[in-house]
Amino acid sequence: MTNSLRIAIVGAGPGGLTLARILYRHGLAVTVFEREGGPLERPQGGTLDLHVESGQLALQRAGLEHAFKRIARYEDQGSRLMDHHANLLFEDPNPDAGDRPEVDRTALRQALLDSLPHGCVKWGVRIDEVRPVGDRCWALHQGPVTHGPFDLVVGADGAWSKVRPLLSSYQPQYSGLTFIEFGIDDVDRQHPHLARLVGRGKLEVAGEAKALIVQRNAHAHLRGYAIFRVPTDWAVDHLSLPALKAQFSGWHPDVLALFDAANETVVARPIHALPVGHRWSHRQGLTLIGDAAHLMSPFGGEGVNAAMLDAAELAQHLLETPDCTAAVQAYENHMFERVMPAAQGSAEGAALQLSHDSLALSLAHLHHHLTTQ
Ligand SMILES: Cc1cc2nc3c(=O)[nH]c(=O)nc-3n(C[C@H](O)[C@H](O)[C@H](O)COP(=O)(O)OP(=O)(O)OC[C@H]3O[C@@H](n4cnc5c(N)ncnc54)[C@H](O)[C@@H]3O)c2cc1C
Repeated sequence: MTNSLRIAIVGAGPGGLTLARILYRHGLAVTVFEREGGPLERPQGGTLDLHVESGQLALQRAGLEHAFKRIARYEDQGSRLMDHHANLLFEDPNPDAGDRPEVDRTALRQALLDSLPHGCVKWGVRIDEVRPVGDRCWALHQGPVTHGPFDLVVGADGAWSKVRPLLSSYQPQYSGLTFIEFGIDDVDRQHPHLARLVGRGKLEVAGEAKALIVQRNAHAHLRGYAIFRVPTDWAVDHLSLPALKAQFSGWHPDVLALFDAANETVVARPIHALPVGHRWSHRQGLTLIGDAAHLMSPFGGEGVNAAMLDAAELAQHLLETPDCTAAVQAYENHMFERVMPAAQGSAEGAALQLSHDSLALSLAHLHHHLTTQ
């Protein structure tokens, strides 16, 4: 591939930064445009488990295995499952035995940023629109400011991508599920009973058509999601800890203690997804990776892994194929098929959440995972 190709990546999430890093490592200059003002503008969210065949593979191709080992938490891979009376139905006996270590999103982003040259990421640039320049190039528009032209624009800008409308008319659909996120700080010292309740990894509590998922993050932080099947605007009136706790009245006090210990920041996350099998007809000089291409519900834990593998595969095609259009087409054709099972699994996971069978299904899933790891 020619080194003079002008490549823009919209979005400095895990997908966009992995792509930038692999291309940079092989001598290609790229520019990443990110709407956030800097790496610390907002907390990046919770913990992610990176899979050997996708997220970890992409980091290997990025030459970041050692950086990853420094931030990976192999010891936090455990699972616990309880009913709403706090009866323990499942506990992983070896939370450190698996090969899908947890990593905090902020640490992952920082490791990727540290591997890129200064100035590669243009912070505080919110792209509103992508427009053609002549027959073969594209420009990025940020209000009155124009960036470009570029030979290839990669939309790595997540669920509400501004690049996607040029390729596909689909918009993410609301799944019917809303997560309300809360956090507990310094849990080992201040709330050791909650540290024990959650264990080394993830606690799921389900019952009465509601669920709680609480995950151990780095720095003794717990991040919880209360999960409801509700209309999209329901959360507006339930965004406080007392309102949240009231939704779980009658649940065991050991579980309700999570809300008493939480800090005041409570955030609603309505869960959206693109249709399973989402694809588009190739258009020269444009493509999508990660959530912009195949937004899934988080059930299945595949989103970030798929985004990073997209980045690794697109980079490989661009590096090995002299013709940029052929490279992007090869990436797209393979990616459309590859993500189908994960998207299907996530959609089924979302559909079954909070059903009458969800505890039994979670239990079966955990036993299956234990016997196959
Ligand atoms: C509650 C929740 C829990 C999750 N848990 C997991 C999990 O455990 N495991 C897992 O694998 N996945 C999980 N996911 C999914 C995972 O977060 C995503 O799949 C992953 O972050 C996708 O990476 P990405 O790089 O494609 O997009 P993103 O991480 O969304 O990054 C997109 C970037 O683009 C920037 N951007 C957006 N618009 C613009 C614009 N117009 N101009 C410039 N920049 C822009 C954003 O600021 C952001 O930095 C979860 C998702 C949610 C909502």
